[in-house]
Amino acid sequence: MGITSGARLAELPQLRNADPAVREDIRVVSTVLPFRVNRYVVDELIDWDQVPDDPIYRLTFPHRDMLPEHVVNRIRRLLLQGASRGEVRAAADEARRLLNPHPGEQLGRNVPTLDGRMVDGLQHKYRETVLVFPAAGQTCHAYCGYCFRWAQFVDMPGLRLQLRNPAALVGYLRRHRQVSDVLFTGGDPLVMATHVLRRFVEPLLDPQLEHVRTLRFGTKALSFWPYRFLTDPDADDLLDLIEGAVQAGRHVAVMAHFSHPRELETRAVAAALRRLQDAGAVVRAQAPLVNHVNADAATWAELWRGLVALSCVPYYLFVERDTGAKAYFQVPLARALQIYRDAVASVSGLERTARGPVMSTSPGKVVVDGEVTIYDERVFALRFLQGRNPTWVGKPFYAAYDDQAAWLDELKPAFGATEFFFVSDRMQDWRQPSPPE
Ligand code: SF4
Repeated sequence: MGITSGARLAELPQLRNADPAVREDIRVVSTVLPFRVNRYVVDELIDWDQVPDDPIYRLTFPHRDMLPEHVVNRIRRLLLQGASRGEVRAAADEARRLLNPHPGEQLGRNVPTLDGRMVDGLQHKYRETVLVFPAAGQTCHAYCGYCFRWAQFVDMPGLRLQLRNPAALVGYLRRHRQVSDVLFTGGDPLVMATHVLRRFVEPLLDPQLEHVRTLRFGTKALSFWPYRFLTDPDADDLLDLIEGAVQAGRHVAVMAHFSHPRELETRAVAAALRRLQDAGAVVRAQAPLVNHVNADAATWAELWRGLVALSCVPYYLFVERDTGAKAYFQVPLARALQIYRDAVASVSGLERTARGPVMSTSPGKVVVDGEVTIYDERVFALRFLQGRNPTWVGKPFYAAYDDQAAWLDELKPAFGATEFFFVSDRMQDWRQPSPPE
């Protein structure tokens, strides 16, 4: 696959004639945040004539503005002084802790327990959906600079979610019959060898787990390594596994991460999509809206048109999460809303299925429906698409308009309210086992 990662990115032949400061910035920033690319990204996706402004380069390569200036200066100083690995590592770990490694309280609130013990590697936030983080899937074919799962890729104790034993998943699902959807995530679960993935998937096809109707796979393999479905030694086996799940009556949803229409242009991705769809999977596509990569309406419109032309369903346009290199990629909600509306207005009905802009926050998935003036107050109209409490779903609520706010916690309730309705409302704990049948 030809992986290059971390400081070695600065040595790629394509950067040989780049400004030395660019190469130094790569070394500094990759000391703190994880970066890796493969030869498909380098050879087939990045247009090197457009670097450093090429959107896929911006998506996958370090840039000094991804870190606060004081962090860049400190790490650079240590590297120039020839500081010990331990010193550099301690400074990098300290910087990582400042970058909110687990947004949305992923570690604190979402990890369930069974018989009084935490089930590491699972998250159960919404009643019907359990997320699975298989230990062997905690990496990706290449990394996105805006990754909200970046903490999975750095070797820091206490920052990883990982499930080693499929039996823990099966045991949990047997006792939680309210769960209809299992989402394999990571990293990227499709970096796993098929025989490892099979150990997690096949037990879910047991008739005793018929309440699990949908298997979702969150993946960027179609963008970063479509050969996973074409020429990898176990590609056929992967497609057989998917076909078997479909034949066992499960809906198989590939939640594909496409950030830019460039990722749809190669022959390999078209062929990979065809194979997945022939196996019976439905491919839905999602990505965050981020500066330097896709922060304009024409890009999203082109992406959605391209997806529908390849029989994929546009699903979510996310707001960049409050983690990692957020300041570099973030787009204020007001601008994201305008981009979403302009993009939707320029495509046909079938290409308008993506919901957005959506924030995946600790209380739930919140969409910004629009901005409006009510009784002389300019407000954002917001709505839960998913909530820790399902009675919140669909309920509109309002926040004072703020053209700089970029996340829910930067918004203030409208109309003089002191807090949003959900703040002191009842939460539900899905981690209670269902009653015996
Ligand atoms: S594909 Fe997803 S998990 Fe992997 S680096 Fe990109 S955003 Fe992170």
